[in-house]
Amino acid sequence: MRRTAACLGAAAVALALAGAAPSPVHVNGGRLKDLLLGLAQFGQNPEGGVTRVGFSREDQAARDWLIERMKEAGLEVRVDPAANIHGRRAGTEPALPAILFGSHIDSVPKGGNFDGDVGSMGALEVMWTLKDEKAAPRHPFEMVVWSNEEGVHYGKGVFGSRMAARGPDAGELEATDEDGVALAEWLRRYGLDPARIGEARLDPGRVASYIELHIEQGGVLDRGGVQIGVVQGIVGIDRYHVTLEGFANHAGTTPMAERRDALVAAARLILAVREEVMARPGRQVGNVGYVQVSPGAPNVVPGLVRLPVELRDLRRDVIDDMAGRVRARAEAIAKEAGVAFTMERYANDEPALTDPGLQDLIEASARAAGYSTLRLPSGAGHDAQSLGRAGIPIGMIFVPSKGGISHSPRERTEWDDVTRGAEVLYRVLRELDKR
Ligand SMILES: [Zn+2]
Repeated sequence: MRRTAACLGAAAVALALAGAAPSPVHVNGGRLKDLLLGLAQFGQNPEGGVTRVGFSREDQAARDWLIERMKEAGLEVRVDPAANIHGRRAGTEPALPAILFGSHIDSVPKGGNFDGDVGSMGALEVMWTLKDEKAAPRHPFEMVVWSNEEGVHYGKGVFGSRMAARGPDAGELEATDEDGVALAEWLRRYGLDPARIGEARLDPGRVASYIELHIEQGGVLDRGGVQIGVVQGIVGIDRYHVTLEGFANHAGTTPMAERRDALVAAARLILAVREEVMARPGRQVGNVGYVQVSPGAPNVVPGLVRLPVELRDLRRDVIDDMAGRVRARAEAIAKEAGVAFTMERYANDEPALTDPGLQDLIEASARAAGYSTLRLPSGAGHDAQSLGRAGIPIGMIFVPSKGGISHSPRERTEWDDVTRGAEVLYRVLRELDKR
């Protein structure tokens, strides 16, 4: 059937063009599946997913298993003081900077078997493929499995990659969990010396680039029937504490017109956040994740509300503009309701854009393999962002998540999509090696 390009979407065009001459697959999808199923044993739960939180017995067991698998693939394995596992294959030109790639194997509680695992086992499969081919890359090839990416344990994400990029925040290693165990103690349990955490730092001058394969964790690729996502960047995140302070009074005796009801103002503010975020085209998102109401009784007019506003986008100016609009709306709402209003930023992660040249390379590599592609932002955080912020060129490859489900035992990526992701990773790395 003959169709003109004009009637097809960009992704379909990519598929149609690439479909003309698909080239053979290099990686071994069966072996990759076996690696993923092997990893899935650790922390397996009855729902079919895993609970393998960073710095736990399950995590430790999975890491020991992984280190053995990496050695079998002929890699020189090293664990840095931040518990990142490095597996290196020497290059023929040792003076060249390393090509880095990898992901993580820790999960959230009751997580799935694909988040992080696909990129980590995909990286190992690429190493196996190079071994099978007796390949002799010019650059050192180094896979890295970063520690405690999810940051569920100790509350701060992308731990290992942050240590590699910039080191700990003040007091971070001394922070204790609900069992009273410090993060430093977990490093010692892993056989590491927390005093040497600085040695986990990467020299950006010794890294050519970092490529991460990951599941999308959203539904854009699955809905569109697209096989490979070319990530434009990892969105920036701003979080604000908002307080609305009215007057708590008797709910039976205070006439409606005289109430200074902080919760009514909060309800209007929550809707205003949604309206202001959706006021422009684009993929920016905003969220109010909870409300704390005080005093919180059925017969008392709510006097005080605290809530967080979270805003995400790839562009800093869009985040700032949304925040400004939300603030203006909130001020007007608060004035009308007779309540005092404050809004203070308490956390911000800058957007981490991927390298435009690496985006082009990922897209071209996917198309050469016969796969459809789409460029999209990542709404979730990833280890790549740490390296990007340290000035290392980053690229990210996404594969579809069925139904957009992630951080759930029902998280799933088709095995063929997993293989396609690893194949694109392989092709990107081989091409980078020529540069
Ligand atoms: Zn992840």
